[in-house]
Amino acid sequence: MPDLYELLGVPRDASPDDIKRAYRRQARQHHPDAGGDEEAFKQITHAYQVLSDPQKRDRYDRFGDDGTPQARGAGQDPFGFGQGGFGGIGDVIDAFFGSAFGGGAPSGGGRSRTTPGRDVLVGVEVTLEDVVTGVRREVEVEVASLCDICGGSGSASGKPPAACTTCGGQGQVQRVVRTAFGQLATASPCPTCSGSGRQVADPCTGCGGEGRRAQRRTLGVDIPAGVDEGDRLRVTGAGEAGRQGAPPGDLYVEVRLTPHEWFERDGRDLIAEINVPVTQAALGGTVTVPTVDGAEVEVPIPAGTQSGQHLIVRRAGLPSSASGRRGDLRLAVRVEVPTDLDTEQRELLSRLAEMRGEPLAADGRGLFTRLRDAFR
Ligand SMILES: [Zn+2]
Ligand SMILES: [Zn+2]
Repeated sequence: MPDLYELLGVPRDASPDDIKRAYRRQARQHHPDAGGDEEAFKQITHAYQVLSDPQKRDRYDRFGDDGTPQARGAGQDPFGFGQGGFGGIGDVIDAFFGSAFGGGAPSGGGRSRTTPGRDVLVGVEVTLEDVVTGVRREVEVEVASLCDICGGSGSASGKPPAACTTCGGQGQVQRVVRTAFGQLATASPCPTCSGSGRQVADPCTGCGGEGRRAQRRTLGVDIPAGVDEGDRLRVTGAGEAGRQGAPPGDLYVEVRLTPHEWFERDGRDLIAEINVPVTQAALGGTVTVPTVDGAEVEVPIPAGTQSGQHLIVRRAGLPSSASGRRGDLRLAVRVEVPTDLDTEQRELLSRLAEMRGEPLAADGRGLFTRLRDAFR
C-alpha cells in the first residue's frame, strides 16, 4: 500500500483542512466518471478516510496502514463514531465558524457523483457560567451514519459498487421528447442509482445498498470558554455519512445562551440590577453580590449614590474567546424608598426633612430640572 500522505499529495503535518482540500481536488481528478482510474480513486478515498480521522491518522502515523477500503468488516467504524464519541472531540473542532457552511460542502441536491454526506446543524444551550469556564456537552444527533452491517460499502458481500446498469455510470438518463419544434433531449437523474452512477449488485439488508442509515448518536463536544450566542463549532466528519463510503459531512454545533436569572449580557459585559436602601445610598456602605463565577464580591457603595448609577466590578463579566480577557460586571443601582414606615421612623424622616428645609407641602415650581440634565 503506498503512503497515504503521498497519495493525497500533502505533507505529513498537513492540517485537516489541507487534507480535505487535497482530497476534493484529487477526487475530482480521479473520479471514474471523469475518466479517472477507479483503483486510484478508491485509494485516495481510503487515504482520506484514514487521514481525516484524528484517531485513525494517529494510528496510521505510528503503525502504518492496517487495511484496504474493502477490508472493513462489520462492526468496524471507519470514521471513529459510535464508541461513545470521538475521544477528545475538542481536537477536531478546528475553528470558530464564521461563514455558514462555506467550507465547500455540497449544497443541497447538487449532482455530485460521490455523494458526500451533508453537513448537519444541531443547537446546544449553554449557561453564562459555562461561557466563563467552557464546558463539555453531550449532543444527540440522528443522522445517516455509516451502516454497521456492511461497513459503508452498501454491499452484502463487501464488493465495491459497479457502474449502474440503467445509466451506464452517467448518473443521468436521457430522454428524447418530440415537440412541435423538433426532438428535444432532456436529462434527469437516474432513478436506479439516484444520480450516483454506481450500483451495488447485492445490496446490504441493513441499508438497502446506501451504505448508510439513520442512527441516533451521542457525541461529546467541548465548548470553549468565551462562546457567544450563534457561534458555530465544527466537528469535522461527524455529519451525515456519504453514500457508499463517500466522505462524510461535518457537524456544526450552534451555541444558544440560556437567559440568566440576574445577569443580562451587553457584549462581554454583564449587567445586573441591585436594590439599595435609600439610607445606604445616602450614607454609603458596601453590598456583597454573587458573580457569574459563583464567587461573591464586596462592592463599595459611595455616599450619595443615585438611582440608575452603575457600580463597576472589573473583569467579572464574560471572557472573550480570542483573548480570554473578561468584560465587567455593571451593577445598575435602584434606590429603594421604604413603604412600611412605623411611627418612629416617620417622625425621624419628618425631622430630617425639616432640618434640610425640604417642606412636605411644596409647590411644583423650582422642583423641575432642565430635561437635558436627565440624559447627561
Ligand atoms: Zn449496509
Ligand atoms: Zn444509474
